[in-house]
Amino acid sequence: MTKRFENKVVVITGGSDGIGLMTAKLFATEGAHVYITGRQQERLDEAVKGIGRGAVGVQGDVSNFADLDRLYERIQRDHGKVDVVFANAGISESAPLGGIEEAHFDRVFTTNVKGLVFTVQKALPLMKAGGTVILTGSASGSKGLPNLSIYSATKAAIRSLARTWTTDLKSQGIRVNVVSPGVILTPALQTYLRDNEGAEEALKQMTPFGRLGQADEVAKAVLFLASNESSFIAGEELFVDGGFMAV
Ligand code: NDP
Repeated sequence: MTKRFENKVVVITGGSDGIGLMTAKLFATEGAHVYITGRQQERLDEAVKGIGRGAVGVQGDVSNFADLDRLYERIQRDHGKVDVVFANAGISESAPLGGIEEAHFDRVFTTNVKGLVFTVQKALPLMKAGGTVILTGSASGSKGLPNLSIYSATKAAIRSLARTWTTDLKSQGIRVNVVSPGVILTPALQTYLRDNEGAEEALKQMTPFGRLGQADEVAKAVLFLASNESSFIAGEELFVDGGFMAV
């Protein structure tokens, strides 16, 4: 069977766990050269081992320009191009409006929006031959989920970025879309469920499919959006959410 991403160079931020790691594994299986990032070296090393097939981990924080520059300098040396950017690194924090501190606001916006913007911007010189960009949004960017205002606002911003970039980047042959997960069982969600008794049941009840999603269900959608199978889909937001947005 033909591999859809043979010799394609794929960058995945936040690729050392959860949705990013699962996506890296699928891209590698389909022949891609995968570069993943994450802040913790040990987690990154573990992930690289798990992906195999020559995956490369470049330690760094998406909101740090020097770290992003190191990532793309490495890819420039290895391959001289980028075909796919999956700007996926993101953090979530919750608080009622009255309890939101400046540091909470700064952390979440700096990682989820600033980090994502410059992950894509700094890839552009390596995407002269075109390519695809997939941004990780969230169903929460369109729903009024309790105490998630800042996180949700970052995800709504991401949808807006994808639409503008669809226009801005079309002359460079770059197609941009958003994948927006519903409730997906990843280490981030597991921490949340541990700290919030009854949350798992409540989240399942809010999901028509009656269960939590799995990381590979999101990863498969990312590969679709990165492939030619979605060649006329641009500026869209694809929800992978078991019907969460339908109710
Ligand atoms: P996880 O916490 O399971 O994994 C997050 C990954 O991102 C880790 O590899 C982590 O590594 C890395 N990361 C976090 N912050 C940074 C940073 N500043 N710079 C570089 N890497 C970073 O998260 P998920 O897989 O659950 O989430 C991935 C994306 O999906 C996020 O954008 C999230 O908002 C979104 N999402 C998830 C949902 C879910 O239900 N799980 C629902 C909707 C959206 P390290 O900590 O070492 O940096």
